[in-house]
Amino acid sequence: MTPKNRKALSDRVTRAAEAALVARQVVTAIDVMTGIGWLDPVAVQRWRLGQVTCLEAAIIANLSRISEAMSLFRKWAVARGLKPSETAYASRHVQSRVLRFSKSGHPGIELHYRTHWISPKLSEQKRERLAEKAREPPALAAIMPLNGDWTCHRCGGTGGLQMMETAGPACLPCAGLGDLDYLPADDKLLTRRAKAKSARHAVVVRFSPSRGRYERLGLLVAPEALAAARA
Ligand SMILES: [Zn+2]
Repeated sequence: MTPKNRKALSDRVTRAAEAALVARQVVTAIDVMTGIGWLDPVAVQRWRLGQVTCLEAAIIANLSRISEAMSLFRKWAVARGLKPSETAYASRHVQSRVLRFSKSGHPGIELHYRTHWISPKLSEQKRERLAEKAREPPALAAIMPLNGDWTCHRCGGTGGLQMMETAGPACLPCAGLGDLDYLPADDKLLTRRAKAKSARHAVVVRFSPSRGRYERLGLLVAPEALAAARA
């Protein structure tokens, strides 16, 4: 990389990181990659849903540029006096699976990606609350495919909803969620009650081509929880 290119990238990384810091008091590698325009927010959603093998596969820059940007980001964060906070990224498609960032899977690189940098201006208590929130496992997500013509990789069947697995999409019964009932999101109170009573639940999402992102349609909950919430 020429010194001029490096300076240009450094400026872009700084701008993206500063913007995220102002907005949320915490900056992540994903904030920087999306902020400099290398990573589409929809690709991040797809990665969390298990449709992309690793985040780097969705970043539109080569590995040496990516690693340069990551190193510039870390230098910026240290110079700004931000506090590092190692954060687990769990997938939304299978229970407790750690999401992979890098093509290499190298532990040091993975650590850099999942380290959040938190503003020192926040009190110890607020920093801890932010870190705690980031540690909460995300809700499982079932996808309503736009194209109904798909095949479960386990049983060869199909269905209205699918869960992504490493080998491909699986139908709800094969993913162990076949007993859950679908509750559309429009009734917020009922949704909240049923979710609180249900030991297992999954969010149902669908890609909206007009809005260009995945949107939440409703919730899958245990039938007895739904009945109890309605009572
Ligand atoms: Zn199946």
